[in-house]
This record gives sequence, C-alpha cells and structure tokens, in this order.
Amino acid sequence: MGRVYNFSAGPAQLPVSVLERAQEELLSYQEKGMSVMEMSHRSSDFKKIIERTEELIRELMEIPETYRVLFIQGGASLQFSMVPLNLLKDGGHAYYVNTGSWSKKALSEAKKIGEAKILASSDDQNFTYIPELDLQQINEQTDYVHITTNNTIEGTRFTKFPNTGHVPLVADASSNILSEQWDVSKFGLIYAGAQKNLGISGLTIVIIREDLIGHAKADIPTMLNYETYTKNNSLYNTPPTFAIYITMLLMEWLKEQGGVAAIEERNKEKANLLYKAIEDSKLFYSNVKREDRSLMNIPFMTDSDELNKLFVKEAEQEGLHQLKGHRSVGGMRASIYNAMPIEGVKALVDFMNEFERKHI
Ligand SMILES: *Cc1c(COP(=O)(O)O)cnc(C)c1O
Repeated sequence: MGRVYNFSAGPAQLPVSVLERAQEELLSYQEKGMSVMEMSHRSSDFKKIIERTEELIRELMEIPETYRVLFIQGGASLQFSMVPLNLLKDGGHAYYVNTGSWSKKALSEAKKIGEAKILASSDDQNFTYIPELDLQQINEQTDYVHITTNNTIEGTRFTKFPNTGHVPLVADASSNILSEQWDVSKFGLIYAGAQKNLGISGLTIVIIREDLIGHAKADIPTMLNYETYTKNNSLYNTPPTFAIYITMLLMEWLKEQGGVAAIEERNKEKANLLYKAIEDSKLFYSNVKREDRSLMNIPFMTDSDELNKLFVKEAEQEGLHQLKGHRSVGGMRASIYNAMPIEGVKALVDFMNEFERKHI
C-alpha cells in the first residue's frame, strides 16, 4: 500500500527518507550486526548516537552553552509535574498562562505540588486567541512563568514571547519546537514531547538553563530531578534508545532541508495556503484570531456536523487521513508539522474546494 498524507496531531507523519534510513539500518546499524534497538545504552556506538542527537538539536536551535539538553521519558505530560517539582521554591509561586487544554493540565499538576496561579487566560472565548499578559503581577516570589507556545488543540500560537525579566520563562513547546526560529536565551526551560516535530513517542527533550538545575526539593524521587539527568548525561538509567536514534535521523533531515530558517519559510507557505482556502471559502471557517494562528495545527469546520463527518470520511478515501477535529473543538483539524510536504497541503486544499462545490 502507498503512503497517505497523515494530518494527525501526534504521533505525526515522518519524512519517508527517515523511515527508509531506519529500515535500511534496522537489522544491522552501520555494519555492527545488530539493531539500535538491541544495543547497550552504555556502548560507544549508542553514545555517539545520543551525542550526535544533542549536537544537532543544539546547532539547529542555536542553543547557548549555558543550557543543557536532556533526554527524558514520560512525555510532555511528565514535565507538567517535573517543572514545578524542580523550580517551585518554598513560599514561592508559579504563574501559568491558560491558553487551552494542555495549559490547563500543566496548571492542575503544578497545583498539586505548590502554589500555581493564572497570569492570563483566553478561556472567555474558548481559547481562540492568545491573551495579553500583565507582567506587573510578577514579583520576587514568582519562581517561573509557564506558557504553551503552540496550542495543539485550539490552533493558536505565541508569535512573540513575553519578557519576564529575571523570572524564568518555561515553555511547553511540544507542538511547534523547531518550526520557526526562536531565541532560546529568552527561556529558562523549554520542553517538548518528541512525537510531533522531534521524532517518535517515548522521548521528551528538555532544554534547561544551567542555573535552574540543582534547586529541587531534597525529597523528590531521583528520576524526577533534572540533576539526575545532567549529572549522568541522560544515561542514569536506560533511555529510549530507538526514539533518540529516530530524533537523530529527523534532525539530520531537518539540517538537509536548510535548517530552521528554511523550514519556517515552508511552514508559513503551507499554513498560508490552508488559511487562504478557509478564508476564501463560503463553507469552511475558523474561529481562531488571525494574529494568533498556529502554523502547525489548523482547526476548521462547517456549520453542519453531518458535513464535517462526511468531509473527514471522504477525505480519508482520498488518502488524507486523521482530519477529525479534537472532540473539545469539533469540526476538522489539519496538523501540518515540519514533515508534512507542501503537496499534502495542496491535496487537502484541492479536496476542500471540490467538497465545497458539491455541498454548497
Ligand atoms: C501533545 C502535547 C502534550 C502531551 O504530550 P505527551 O508527550 O503525550 O505527554 C502536551 N502539550 C502539548 C502542547 C502537546 O501538543
């Protein structure tokens, strides 16, 4: 069977060349007579893989020397707990910007660990925009400010990042890391599950400024302390070796594409194609505020639940998969991460136009 265009929000489509390379090397990685899956995480071959992966991420994101790159399991969801466990101090508090389902989850986990408050929220309009932040509220007791750089479910993104001064800015960047150029030095900590723009599930990347490491409460579990990962180069226990290897391949692919600046241009081109199709349409619409639109996750819908269902069904017959919207938003959602080729977006737009002709 041929490959389809997979618009899933995650795990997401990978470039065919990455899958082919993994396939070629599946039985015997670089003539070693074994798969990466079977290799000791302490072997020199695997050490080269994890080091190369870190080097590529550092190069692509231009990560300053004062930051560490950690390889952790448990998904972005475990970071909802690890961040407050490591950064919240006695008597301190954290501020969360509530921009959607994932922010809400991050906030509720933080509340279990210490004091976590809402700095700003867009829940008054179903999270269809990014709220203004009143940074005056930040004070000496604020340990960090948490944002979700891209709201995977609602389809919004921060187009500029707040300047939180001496207070670290912490970002859940799961669904748009490496999709556009960022100045990493504006953040104290960035985390992202790998299954959207970094590879496959099982791996989470944490980029953390060195001075934020080593202040965790003394009694937290070893595996939840960032210091365990920094002291052991993410090899305290067995890391998700195959997932790290896939990230290495994907980062090599991204570099071949011209790096983040080049992929940003292509991502904008892809998103603009789809947004223009929605704007020009008399059938499809989007509720997201124009200035805050995501480049990665694009929800759209018609007024009829029946037509939405029919669209998703017929699209699948055309090889356009996983277009059903999240249940909290309804309608459709196209996730067009780095690995989605422009041809996939063009095929979707063509199908939308054809569907509209038939049903309006
Ligand atoms: C997918 C996603 C998560 C959850 O990631 P897991 O790795 O499944 O825990 C969290 N935050 C955002 C913004 C996401 O897109």
